[in-house]
Amino acid sequence: STSRKYLIAGNWKMNLNSAEGAELASQVVSMFGQQTDVSVCVCPTFTTLEAVSKVVNESNVQLGAQNMHYEASGAYTGEISAEMLRHLYCNFVILGHSERRQYFGETDETVNKKTLAALEANLKPIVCIGETLEEREAGKVSEVIKTQTEGALSGVTAAQAENLVIAYEPVWAIGTGKTATPEMAEEVHAEIRCLLAGLFDEDTAEKVRILYGGSMKPGNAAELLAQKNIDGGLIGGASLKANDFGGIVEAAV
Ligand code: PEP
Repeated sequence: STSRKYLIAGNWKMNLNSAEGAELASQVVSMFGQQTDVSVCVCPTFTTLEAVSKVVNESNVQLGAQNMHYEASGAYTGEISAEMLRHLYCNFVILGHSERRQYFGETDETVNKKTLAALEANLKPIVCIGETLEEREAGKVSEVIKTQTEGALSGVTAAQAENLVIAYEPVWAIGTGKTATPEMAEEVHAEIRCLLAGLFDEDTAEKVRILYGGSMKPGNAAELLAQKNIDGGLIGGASLKANDFGGIVEAAV
């Protein structure tokens, strides 16, 4: 990842109210508020975004959301638009997380609509892809990765792709304590970069950050981040503790 700046993004999932989130964010800012070598981002719940936005404001810690709707506004009860996230100074939005695919009916088609809407609104999408254990055991990893990548990125231009982030998150490694070995992860990351080169071009593919996600911790981050095509991490459980999250950021510096 020579020319690509590492991105360490914390996915707080459905944890931390606005007071708790502000507290964790202030710990992250005290550690990494001046950090310029690595991009650091926290992704709170919608209701915690505004409080965290005020805390990270004027620091180098960036803000992301965990989901959004693809329409700009209107009769979509319960949904949040890209513009609403931009208004709170979000830079990133996680799209198509496996939990959203598994529990909330997210498909490659909805992820694609959201990806296009996010890019249009100047939000950097963190598009999540990854196989289940069943798919891995059936030898379908490449097929699943290709379908999900091409499905999510349909209609994205090469110019837009420079703002794109992909997160490879093998579903069997999320929240399970089971991490893909660095070699297993790198094999898939290299495949994803190859797919990006096919969709766009080599130069563009070299600029896209591909994060690994799945039980990343301070103890395994360095060896994962040392892989050629691993450009950062999407961190669930470990992002809720300032010291663990900090340890992973340190491994990227
Ligand atoms: C995630 O859900 O994005 C994730 C990587 O979770 P964990 O780090 O807890 O496995």
